[in-house]
Amino acid sequence: MDRKEELTQKVDVLVPGIKNCKFCGGDHEVRKCPAYGVVCRNCIIRNHFAKMCSRGQGRAVPQRRNVREVVQDHEKVDNLN
Ligand SMILES: [Zn+2]
Ligand SMILES: [Zn+2]
Repeated sequence: MDRKEELTQKVDVLVPGIKNCKFCGGDHEVRKCPAYGVVCRNCIIRNHFAKMCSRGQGRAVPQRRNVREVVQDHEKVDNLN
C-alpha cells in the first residue's frame, strides 16, 4: 500500500499591476491602461488623460476669481422730469 502525497500548492499568480498610473492616474493591470489611445485634450498627444498631462499646465485650468470686491459708488441719479 503506497499512498501518494501530493503536495499541491496553489500559487497565486501575481498579476503585475500599476498603481497611480502616470497616464491615467488609476490602478490597473499592465497594458490595460484606459488612457491608452486617448488623445489628451491639453497637448494633443495620445495615451494619457488631460488631467495627467505634464505639458502646458499653464493653460490647463484657468482659475477665475469668482469673488471680487466690487466697489460701487452710489452715484446720484438725477431724474430729469
Ligand atoms: Zn493607466
Ligand atoms: Zn497631455
